[in-house]
Amino acid sequence: MRSTLRSIIHSVNAADGLQETFDIIVEEVGGAMEADICSVYLLEKDNQNHLLVASYGLNPQLVGKAKIPIGKGIVGHISARGEPFKSEEGSEHEAFFEIPDIGEEGAHAFLGVPITHHRETLGVLVVQQRTSRNYNEDDEAFLVTLSAQLAGIIVNAELRNLVESKARQKPITQFQANSSAPGIAMGKGWVVSPPTSLASVPNRNCKDVDEEIKQLRKSMSRARKDIRDLAATLSTTLAKQELALFAAYEQMLSHNSLGKKIEKLIKEESLWAATALRKVIDDNVKRFMAMDDPYLQERATDVLDLGRRVLNHLQEQSSKPQQFPRKTILISEQVTSGMIAEIPQKYLVGIISLKGSSTSHAAILARSMGIPALMGLRDCPVTALEGKPLIVDGYQNVLFVSPRRVLTEEYKQRQTDEQHMLERLPKKSTAKTKTLDGFTIPLMVNSGMIADFDHDLDLDVDGVGLFRSEYPFMQSDRFPGESEQRHLYRRILKGYKGKPVVIRTLDIGGDKTLPYFPIDEENPFLGWRGIRISLDHPEIFHTQLRAMMLANVGLGNLHISLPMICTLSELDKSLLLIRQVYKEIQEEFAFSEEEFKRPKIGVVIEVPSAVYQIRSIAKRVDFISIGSNDLTQYLFAVDRNNTRVSYLYKALHPAILLALMEICEAGNNEKIPIHICGEIAGNPLATIVLLAMGVTGLSMNIHSIPKVRQVIQKFRMSDASAILSKTLSYETSFEVQEYLTRVLKERGLADLVNPGHQ
Ligand code: PEP
Ligand code: MG
Repeated sequence: MRSTLRSIIHSVNAADGLQETFDIIVEEVGGAMEADICSVYLLEKDNQNHLLVASYGLNPQLVGKAKIPIGKGIVGHISARGEPFKSEEGSEHEAFFEIPDIGEEGAHAFLGVPITHHRETLGVLVVQQRTSRNYNEDDEAFLVTLSAQLAGIIVNAELRNLVESKARQKPITQFQANSSAPGIAMGKGWVVSPPTSLASVPNRNCKDVDEEIKQLRKSMSRARKDIRDLAATLSTTLAKQELALFAAYEQMLSHNSLGKKIEKLIKEESLWAATALRKVIDDNVKRFMAMDDPYLQERATDVLDLGRRVLNHLQEQSSKPQQFPRKTILISEQVTSGMIAEIPQKYLVGIISLKGSSTSHAAILARSMGIPALMGLRDCPVTALEGKPLIVDGYQNVLFVSPRRVLTEEYKQRQTDEQHMLERLPKKSTAKTKTLDGFTIPLMVNSGMIADFDHDLDLDVDGVGLFRSEYPFMQSDRFPGESEQRHLYRRILKGYKGKPVVIRTLDIGGDKTLPYFPIDEENPFLGWRGIRISLDHPEIFHTQLRAMMLANVGLGNLHISLPMICTLSELDKSLLLIRQVYKEIQEEFAFSEEEFKRPKIGVVIEVPSAVYQIRSIAKRVDFISIGSNDLTQYLFAVDRNNTRVSYLYKALHPAILLALMEICEAGNNEKIPIHICGEIAGNPLATIVLLAMGVTGLSMNIHSIPKVRQVIQKFRMSDASAILSKTLSYETSFEVQEYLTRVLKERGLADLVNPGHQ
């Protein structure tokens, strides 16, 4: 059953266009269930009728015409109740709705299941039998399983159809995102497919056919070598017969087989090699799937694997400069920091990531670069956006595809207004940021990209509250050595001389992986991450600590923060290693105490267990840094990248506020600084509440600083605790947000409230 399901899903996935999607569904499902009739009815947009969109066995003349009104017939009954229905004598059932000339005469057995997507019924999938048949529970379970998987594919095909439609009067195509980095971007879509995902390769034309063919040949030859190597490794364990398969694969990858077909497509249609590869592989997979022999059907998986191998080599080669649109909007299923870094900054104007949320690292990076981004767009047909004119509205969280002229003009005007608004915000402030009653609040930046530095330096901020040291590691092709790291850290420590710079030790794992240090885990956010990796690899940790401390010689502004600490033992081991490295350098170079200051050490509080040990932690360290992004993720058990559950991710939820209070209380008792470096620090709605809790410094992306500064300058510390008490009286994040929005509006700060913030 599983292989039949897989084979149907694959064929449907490879369909070209909406109608073909439906036609394949009825053909394949009808065939697999040995049904005489298989039909798909879809609920029309006006919710009045169910339209017969495809059928195998009914009168083809009525496909696209026959309708069953809402609430009528067995189809209407299934759709309304959202439940399967079966009967040995469907046409005799009291609800049966007769459609003249449809060809249902003599159809006895009936089994129908709803097609449901995200709690919404899209239509009904029906199988019928002209002979008598008792559809059993297995049949029903099979159809329900299939329908659940088909729903997503149908929605995707419908949307793709809409996006690709050339109709002049087509409706406005727009997609809603879950969250964003603020701003408006207008440009052309540039799709980046995840490594080795053939299905995500967009339809793209090439500039130089000969070059594409050269790359293809090289990749095919490398894939052939992979197969040969694999066969050699397995030669002692596999039987002769199985080894022969590898020879067959090698043969398929030869010029005379797949190679010739792919090259032909590249030449005839001036296609990008990866696009031509995807088309030919899809074609072959379909052919194998259609074979009767189950053994041959299974070979489709092998063809797909061969395709992925070739794609892998093509992707390795395409690291050469590409022709980006002048205004590139980067699109991917899951945009990564690496993808962002690969596009020259002068071209990159916007980012769209199907998966992810406002605190995914791609969103954080986008915000720090001032690039509008949309995160978490359900059902958006990513590959169809390639080359399309797009508008990214990071204020309303909306993406417009191929917008009409009027809309484009309107957004151009909004972009200009936005520019003026930002220019009006005082960027540079030589004075310290103070509340109306004179309390100074240090505002610091979060940094990490090398490109940030010069940009940050000319702003008058009070230091760096978080330097994400993993970003430079991500831009390298190996672990950077001690002197390389030392130069980098020195540049930033020197740039902010006299001000604190918090460098966080390597925080890889989760959604931040290094290409040269792959970590393959089922549950990466709960796995090998941050300090856990550093403690397991003392050689990497030791090099980084040495580089940081050597960079600090003669400057003395280094602060080190430790990510993902969840036990005191992790903290104690880290502190011991830091002390050892300090001593080792002191003995090696004999620096004076004045020249070689002990760095201040802090912990990033981002794991719930650390909140409950905060008193003991606060006694051991010089400062506390609150990582509200991960703290929210772990407190709510919500993967910060998972779009399905992102509605639960609310940094302004009373539960988070109570956890922050605990941390601040412990830090204040020990009289050590407490900084917040998670995204909540840059949310103007949260500013006053955080200060009232006793947070002593806020660290955020550079673009949020002028806004947060404005808030601080409009309030008195003496008002803050009353605002905090009122905030804590609410029980939901919605109420908290609504109240704090009102508070800002009363002070004339309505402009600062951004709907993208959570
Ligand atoms: C955090 O978790 O809040 C944080 C600042 O770290 P990162 O976003 O890099 O995980
Ligand atoms: Mg974190």
